[in-house]
Amino acid sequence: MRGRRLTFAMEAIGGVRAGGSSPAGFVDPGAQRSDIADAQRQGVERQGVVYWCAAGHSYCVTFAADASVPATWECRCGLPAGQDPDHPPVVAEPAVYRTPLEYLHERRSDADLDTILDEALQAVAAARRRDPTGRQ
Ligand SMILES: [Zn+2]
Repeated sequence: MRGRRLTFAMEAIGGVRAGGSSPAGFVDPGAQRSDIADAQRQGVERQGVVYWCAAGHSYCVTFAADASVPATWECRCGLPAGQDPDHPPVVAEPAVYRTPLEYLHERRSDADLDTILDEALQAVAAARRRDPTGRQ
């Protein structure tokens, strides 16, 4: 796994992931190499950490060698990205808003709802027969 991961890292620094799944222009290999080369010229020890998002993007983030590397990093597409190419972070689905009627349809069948509606209409009709003015 480590050898494969290193291969992925080298490819990501080069701007192309195995299979060419990185969108064109998403990773600028020249800029990555330039950043690392600049850091090396300045005598600053750096490390390149490759992140993968669920959309298949991969990119390298450069950190100081002694920095604590975050487990996840936000991809440029907005998804969270992790360091395991086979298991990128999964985005939790936002809570889906449902109307009270949709909740009711989850609990009752259409036949049940028709029966309940008929009973309610009969109760209203009976109340109106008792007091046609609507005052009860
Ligand atoms: Zn992405």
